[in-house]
Amino acid sequence: MIGKEKIDSIVLGKGFSDYKWIKPKDIIVAQWVRMKCTFGCKGYGSGTCPPNTPSVSDCDRFFKEYEHGLIIRLNKMADKDEYPTDWSKEMTKKLLNIEREVFLSGFQKVFLLNQACCTVCKDCSNSRVDCTDKTNARPSPESFAVDVYQTVRNAGLDINVVKDSPAEMSKIAILLIE
Ligand code: SF4
Repeated sequence: MIGKEKIDSIVLGKGFSDYKWIKPKDIIVAQWVRMKCTFGCKGYGSGTCPPNTPSVSDCDRFFKEYEHGLIIRLNKMADKDEYPTDWSKEMTKKLLNIEREVFLSGFQKVFLLNQACCTVCKDCSNSRVDCTDKTNARPSPESFAVDVYQTVRNAGLDINVVKDSPAEMSKIAILLIE
């Protein structure tokens, strides 16, 4: 039996209270997400984004290897054209610390899909092999072809397309646990 209380205390201890337990087999993986990464996203080609990520079918198989997961929602009032990078880096650091603590609690498969494209470096190498911070680089759910909107709604959380700017944005991280 997974020690959910232990993991809850790790996540809450890092200041995240807006999350839901999920079964990773229920994560919706879709080809259309990969198409939107490939055409129309300015992050395409960066070190943790397509085409530097597994195929859509491999991503789908990967999620099915896990019994437990968390969807963590981070809300931030922000301007769409001025992404709050300092806040994002701080959140990424906290999420990586959660991944580390869960690993040290005995869940050797734990893996973080980060709440944003990797922004660890000012200038990305755009390559997995030449990545300059391999320890901390993590992909986003979208880069692993996750239909974030449907997956989050299926878990019982609200998420909407942001129409105004500035507005409250919901950033989504997924922690896979076993
Ligand atoms: S750690 Fe740096 S080089 Fe590696 S993927 Fe992230 S931004 Fe790119």
